[in-house]
Amino acid sequence: MKSDKNKFPDKNGFFGDYGGKFVPETLMYALEELESTYKNLKDNPEFKKQFYKDLSEFVGRPSPLYFAERLTNHYGTGSIWLKREDLNHTGAHKINNTIGQILLAKQMGKKRIIAETGAGQHGVATATVAARLGLECHIYMGSEDVQRQSLNVYRIKLLGAEVHAVDSGSATLKDALNEALRDWVTNVDDTYYIIGSVTGPHPYPMIVRDFNSVVGEELITQSQELFNSMPDAIVACVGGGSNAMGAFYPFIDIKETRLIGVEAGGEGVETGEHAAPLNDGMPGVLHGALSYLMQDDSGQVKATKSVSAGLDYPGVGPEHSWLKDSGRAEYVAVSDDEALKAFHEVSEFEGIIPALETAHAFAYLDTLMKEFDKNANVIVNVSGRGDKDINTVAEIDGIKF
Ligand SMILES: *Cc1c(COP(=O)(O)O)cnc(C)c1O
Repeated sequence: MKSDKNKFPDKNGFFGDYGGKFVPETLMYALEELESTYKNLKDNPEFKKQFYKDLSEFVGRPSPLYFAERLTNHYGTGSIWLKREDLNHTGAHKINNTIGQILLAKQMGKKRIIAETGAGQHGVATATVAARLGLECHIYMGSEDVQRQSLNVYRIKLLGAEVHAVDSGSATLKDALNEALRDWVTNVDDTYYIIGSVTGPHPYPMIVRDFNSVVGEELITQSQELFNSMPDAIVACVGGGSNAMGAFYPFIDIKETRLIGVEAGGEGVETGEHAAPLNDGMPGVLHGALSYLMQDDSGQVKATKSVSAGLDYPGVGPEHSWLKDSGRAEYVAVSDDEALKAFHEVSEFEGIIPALETAHAFAYLDTLMKEFDKNANVIVNVSGRGDKDINTVAEIDGIKF
């Protein structure tokens, strides 16, 4: 949580031109209350102690930085290292943020927790921390995602939370977020909204980034220990952008490290059937923030397409838009087919079944490793494990159980 060294966001919540707080008046007070609570707590020694204690004892941090030997040999050009966020309790990076935000909710005396979820990982991570503190919990999920992520739906229910299937729009993550925001507007007095990515109105993009930055902080130490230099590149998939932001943020001033975000190219960016706003979008407002967005000429949000529920979102966190425009990070896209190929390859080469989201980051190695020689060290942020995606992949492969 070393957020002070970077000047962004500014006091109005902007990262350069992006971000802000485009919300109904009823939410302004709640956002200001959240911001002042966070600002008061974030450098408080007791708060930090509790946060890192929970990350250690409940989540199992630090997660290893692991040498991927067979994948490295497969490419033959540089060492590939895996940041094992898949080994966290609940199976993804999402828990880093929910552990932090539930402490804020507790501090603010909120009794009711709500969240949106796409692949269900944020729903599971939120239901988990709510169960731990005995708080009522409601998870909004697009009905399309309820179908394709049925395992996580059941996990959320087992954890004692209620799942609300959302039928509006494309019935995916964007619609779940709309519904969660609607709930929050109605119940703002007793309800804490745990947003699951570096999206939404200020101060959420900052808060979610800071809690996930534990990933990048560990990477600095682990890189020094394991290969005695900073990495040449960090590759991470980008949906809303929280796993990428958490890995990138502590490296922003470490200029020798290339930061590469991989978006969901769906059927191919050129087809328009994708979920890659940084590759093929224009600045616009969605869910309370100004950022790159997939929209048509009249500003209507376009339908997205991705095999991966967690990346199937037309917007992206505002800090990524700034990193793109400033040139500090690079944003590319890989298609569903390329991600599926990587899903199988990583499983067979490394004995690690990655999440379909994460498979997008792996797929980009086909392009990236050609740019390096043997001395390079490349880190892939393994944002989550693939158990939740087995049904989706089996169906695509034509396998019936
Ligand atoms: C939710 C999720 C993502 C996408 O979200 P970001 O905020 O972009 O990180 C990526 N990978 C996994 C495993 C996820 O659960």
